[in-house]
Amino acid sequence: MDELHFHYYLLIIACDIGSMASFDEILSKESIFKDSSVLSPHFVPRELPFREDQLSELMLLVSPALAGKKPKNIIIYGKSGTGKTVCIKRVMEDFDAQKKNATIVYLNCRIYSSRYRILQKVLKGFVPELERSGFGLPFLYEKLLDVAGTGRQMVIVLDEIDMVKDLDDLVYTMTRANDELKAGGVTIIGISNRLHFKDALDTRSRSSLYENEMVFPGYTSEQLQKILFQRAEAGFRKGIVDGSAINLAAAITANDSGDARYALKLILKAGEIAEKEGKKEVTDAEVEAARRAVELDLVSETINTLPENHQIVLYAIAKLSMSGSKYSRLEGMDGSFLFTGEIHEEYENICRRLRKKPRTPRWYKEYLNDLETLGLITTTPSSKGIRGHTTLIKIGQNPRDIEKLIRDKLALG
Ligand code: ADP
Ligand code: MG
Repeated sequence: MDELHFHYYLLIIACDIGSMASFDEILSKESIFKDSSVLSPHFVPRELPFREDQLSELMLLVSPALAGKKPKNIIIYGKSGTGKTVCIKRVMEDFDAQKKNATIVYLNCRIYSSRYRILQKVLKGFVPELERSGFGLPFLYEKLLDVAGTGRQMVIVLDEIDMVKDLDDLVYTMTRANDELKAGGVTIIGISNRLHFKDALDTRSRSSLYENEMVFPGYTSEQLQKILFQRAEAGFRKGIVDGSAINLAAAITANDSGDARYALKLILKAGEIAEKEGKKEVTDAEVEAARRAVELDLVSETINTLPENHQIVLYAIAKLSMSGSKYSRLEGMDGSFLFTGEIHEEYENICRRLRKKPRTPRWYKEYLNDLETLGLITTTPSSKGIRGHTTLIKIGQNPRDIEKLIRDKLALG
């Protein structure tokens, strides 16, 4: 930029400042949220409706540790968002408050995914030198015996336990430690979303881990209503969230999965949308918009993992869906169904614009198959008589949203 342009540039900035946001202005705006952290998935509410039985059972099962005896191992199974993690966190709070010679440690096995990493993390609180790495497994094992050997009951919660690569080895080590220990003990509470993960275990570690098994069911629409209501009351200012918006979020979720995490995401996102648009209420309309936004986030993640040719084919489908199929209108059909032939033509056009060589029709068919498997499109064979016999394609999401997502990615301008 030369000097003249630079001054001109400064002038533009100076003129803009008058209308620019200020911190004072932002901070003085009253938010519709009272405390949005209550709506985060990491928040642990004091009350957990519909999990009273599971909480009592868990407390009963771990209570021997507080009396100096080793509890049995436990496996907790349930689909995502059924309250497994939040329940164990609640039990841990009460366990710690007892201040006995017992420790309960929580680890997420996505991060701590091997026997070595798990032992290292569990013992770090007791053996500060473990902050440094480079100690072998035998050393960690000795330390485990030392720490528990003082009579300490150690309860290790392994969330997403199916992510542990050498779980059989870990269970074996713990069993051996318990056999060797004269006082104290080590107990595992494993949590998993995957019903069949136990099939991958050795018979020995399976029977050891599954001494107790608990199943967390999915939530019904009525249950989600209550959970959402409670969180919305604590998270939003009074009178902001409409009862009907909560019922809608609960119904959408129950219909889909019964996953309380998803329901909370919907309500939080609905609040953020209302706030951004300067609204003072969260209604059905914001929940619908939130649902689209949350779905779009998921679709966008899927699209990001697609190879370029798949993206181009999906882009072609989105573009044609926006204008409506020429052919199906000729056939007197609803224009939202596309013919594979016209998509292929559009695919070739876009490849030309991107200066890419289009792949052969055989590949193109594969791309359509993959897109269908991922739920991005649906295909149906046409009835006989329509242009011979062909396949009709329909896009799964709003074509405008998809078109924009891919246009930005492929820089199609
Ligand atoms: P999971 O571990 O089974 O996938 P979480 O325990 O993480 O599920 O729960 C997901 C979200 O739903 C969390 O924000 C949690 O606070 C909330 N939640 C789950 N069950 C309840 C409940 N019974 N009452 C209140 N909030 C709940
Ligand atoms: Mg969890």
